[in-house]
Amino acid sequence: MEDKKVRKIVIVGGGTAGWMAASALSQLLPAGHSYQLIESDQISTIGVGEATIPSIRNFNLHLGIDENDFIRATQGTFKLGIEFVNWGKKGDNYIHGFGSVGRDQPTANFYQYWLKMNQMGHAPTMEPFSINTVAARMGRFSRGRPDLPNSPLSDLSYAFHFDAGLYARYLRTYSEARGVQRIEGKIVGTVLREGDGFIEAVVMENGQRIEADFFIDCSGLVGLLIEQALHTGYEDWSHWLPCDRAIAVPCETAGSMQALTRSTAHSAGWQWRIPLQHRTGNGHVFSSRFMEPAEAEKILMNNLEGKPLAEPRLLKFVTGKRKQTWNKNCVAIGLSGGFMEPLESTSIHMVKTALMRLITFFPDCGFDQVDIDTFNRLCDNEYAQIRDFLICHYKVNARDDSDFWRYVQEMEVPAALQRKLDLFASHGRILRENEELFPEDSWLQVMHGQGMRPRSYNPVVDQRSPEEIADFLHNTAAVIRKCVDAMPGHLDFIRANCQAPVKKAA
Ligand SMILES: Cc1cc2nc3c(=O)[nH]c(=O)nc-3n(C[C@H](O)[C@H](O)[C@H](O)COP(=O)(O)OP(=O)(O)OC[C@H]3O[C@@H](n4cnc5c(N)ncnc54)[C@H](O)[C@@H]3O)c2cc1C
Repeated sequence: MEDKKVRKIVIVGGGTAGWMAASALSQLLPAGHSYQLIESDQISTIGVGEATIPSIRNFNLHLGIDENDFIRATQGTFKLGIEFVNWGKKGDNYIHGFGSVGRDQPTANFYQYWLKMNQMGHAPTMEPFSINTVAARMGRFSRGRPDLPNSPLSDLSYAFHFDAGLYARYLRTYSEARGVQRIEGKIVGTVLREGDGFIEAVVMENGQRIEADFFIDCSGLVGLLIEQALHTGYEDWSHWLPCDRAIAVPCETAGSMQALTRSTAHSAGWQWRIPLQHRTGNGHVFSSRFMEPAEAEKILMNNLEGKPLAEPRLLKFVTGKRKQTWNKNCVAIGLSGGFMEPLESTSIHMVKTALMRLITFFPDCGFDQVDIDTFNRLCDNEYAQIRDFLICHYKVNARDDSDFWRYVQEMEVPAALQRKLDLFASHGRILRENEELFPEDSWLQVMHGQGMRPRSYNPVVDQRSPEEIADFLHNTAAVIRKCVDAMPGHLDFIRANCQAPVKKAA
């Protein structure tokens, strides 16, 4: 039994996923394992992936990372949500703020009260009821105040923007301090065990053979082990999410420093804007079926707020996921496991959840198929739920200015998503099932923001008179506004707590 113990772990790839894996496993697994991470200076990391969602804070917390130190080291900024520009139709602008909208009541959620008033011709907008949205619009930021349990500040939910290269470097230092051995060099081959086809070793360009009990494939889109060696197969979801290219370029920081990622819809995709301390990250995600790269690049460069700091880079991807995230003695984490466009900044989150799930199902002596199957089922659920949320942005849309927008509005969507849309369309109800990542208020903000309006509201809110509901809405908005008025500016907060050394942007 002892000789089958999984002890030696090799991580292939030193991008965000590889170093997150090295950090988490070396910190959270018990002693007795050894870790080697192989990365090649000849093969660059993807170099994007700079906007996150709040769960990243838990990851840092598990690792015992000091938040201010991390922000300084990565030229980071804070993020209260995502601003969507021109999405529902040209000229629209809404924010999907993290955290809650209003205050849910025991019998109905806040939205139902708002909806009733809205249908009566009052309450024109939902924005004043999300503290994240109000703070982001006003350029404010502060951390939550758990010591004020009755205040909207108590659970203020936020995430980060950071420089992906600096983040990987930060985690490398962290991992090496915990015994992870970095091996520089290119893998040119894989040796499979006779009989069961498990991976026995990888072969380096210099002929060295590196063996392990367990391989974590963080090699990026190529899927060096999971696909090239194990031929696991890939589910292609391009028919639902047709964007398959991105052009990325950093520029000098100009314009506002709101704690927001911005997503601006164009005629065959959308453009991101991610403000960091030393530069702004930009990229145009588009569908090659509907737009040529040259046109996509032109649109991107015409919509930069500052001087470009590098040549634009074209990235190609196929939206979807591996048929199995864990196959034999190999788990694919990061881009090697699959990819969905960064519209809701979910990829790094999925690296984190895959790692935490791996720790839950970590093998002891040999590999138990029931653990592998359960791990894969949970990964499949997570992918499908996030996929549906992304599709919703395209399906619920009134833009009619290009073939791209007409295609996504007319396409048939997965049945689970269609049920969600139908449920909301009738009485504004939203159901969060099976530990879904995005809560009701995220779905609400996106469906509402994209222009969807339910036919009616939940009649349970008729228990209160319109005057009582009006007071309730008024008080909720007033308390939020008072909290935000007391917050510092986003930049002032950074300067006071976590300003990075002044650095010439790369
Ligand atoms: C356009 C775009 C925008 C994105 N934006 C976001 C975002 O805003 N938020 C978010 O959460 N995520 C985003 N992502 C996803 C995010 O970038 C990735 O999830 C994250 O960076 C992890 O990448 P990775 O480590 O899996 O792969 P990579 O960064 O590609 O790293 C691969 C590693 O494998 C090594 N390697 C490969 N082949 C070999 C070999 N033969 N021998 C040795 N080493 C090898 C390379 O040297 C490298 O170190 C985005 C992705 C894209 C494509």
